[in-house]
Amino acid sequence: MAASLGFRGAASGLWYWSGRRRPVGSLAAVCSRSMASKTPVGFIGLGNMGNPMAKNLMKHGYPLILYDVFPDVCKEFKEAGEQVASSPAEVAEKADRIITMLPSSMNSVEVYSGANGILKKVKKGSLLIDSSTIDPSVSKELAKEVEKMGAVFMDAPVSGGVGAARSGNLTFMVGGVEDEFAAAQELLECMGSNVVYCGAVGTGQSAKICNNMLLAISMIGTAEAMNLGIRSGLDPKLLAKILNMSSGRCWSSDTYNPVPGVMHGVPSSNNYQGGFGTTLMAKDLGLAQDSATSTKTPILLGSLAHQIYRMMCSKGYSKKDFSSVFQYLREEEPF
Ligand code: NAD
Repeated sequence: MAASLGFRGAASGLWYWSGRRRPVGSLAAVCSRSMASKTPVGFIGLGNMGNPMAKNLMKHGYPLILYDVFPDVCKEFKEAGEQVASSPAEVAEKADRIITMLPSSMNSVEVYSGANGILKKVKKGSLLIDSSTIDPSVSKELAKEVEKMGAVFMDAPVSGGVGAARSGNLTFMVGGVEDEFAAAQELLECMGSNVVYCGAVGTGQSAKICNNMLLAISMIGTAEAMNLGIRSGLDPKLLAKILNMSSGRCWSSDTYNPVPGVMHGVPSSNNYQGGFGTTLMAKDLGLAQDSATSTKTPILLGSLAHQIYRMMCSKGYSKKDFSSVFQYLREEEPF
């Protein structure tokens, strides 16, 4: 494995700035650095999160090579002059830095190792960053396959939701070879305000899974508290205001409140459309369950949250944002 990004970039014929090397001072060097840093970046998976993330890379001047299994979602990028590829393999042929933002482990495996996957055409020295939330053991397997091809894989799942993806304020949790972190950071900082190195491949996923288990628990707790307050005669906006100046305050209460009408610009005020799907939350809680089993860790509330989100998926909530747990609880008639 290359000891620094500058070396790896040079090996691939597309030198780019690592953030570790310093400019030598001449105008030519600085220009060549800034021009070289704008070589195309591949982006695969342009859904709720991938779409705004790719747009932030565009805003930073990176030309994109895009692919999504639903070509319609690439239309607006094509109209803006970006290239749309016909497979992940074609993306890998045209870009030596690729970001993937896919729903689940199965999709990441397909995009990397499938018949027309990235690994079919990946160039030596390429940097492949998977920002999907997937099983850490799958990230480790993918990293091994990528390494065999002479390229580098890092897991870099995100936290922050669609709002943070739009504003470029995501938190990235990065796992992989530390010497390669600066290279990933250069791209990830265009989309996030916090880019945190967690350790070896898979540790980014482990951090993300812990975060989402806590998020699910706090969202259910917020929905329960809001529902109880409303049924006790409190105005929901007033109750949210009180919680947010008190010890019950959390991200689910002050940034992503699950009660329709309490906040603007969040899924609860848009019939729970967009945002972070209930199916995705159920998937992340399943990953937490797997990690808890393999590490023999008790996660009592995490397990309960998993069952609640699984039940919601089978009761018509699968396509709604995960904050619809409030609506789910509301539908339980008082007895
Ligand atoms: P999404 O379902 O909105 O988007 C996923 C995109 O991937 C879709 O456009 C889909 O067509 C595409 N896709 C699926 N399989 C593909 C394949 N084989 N090849 C190419 N494209 C494929 O999901 P999202 O909400 O953008 O989430 C993406 C990832 O980010 C998930 O792992 C999720 O857990 C994680 N995440 C989401 C949020 C959120 O708020 N939505 C927040 C943090 C993390």
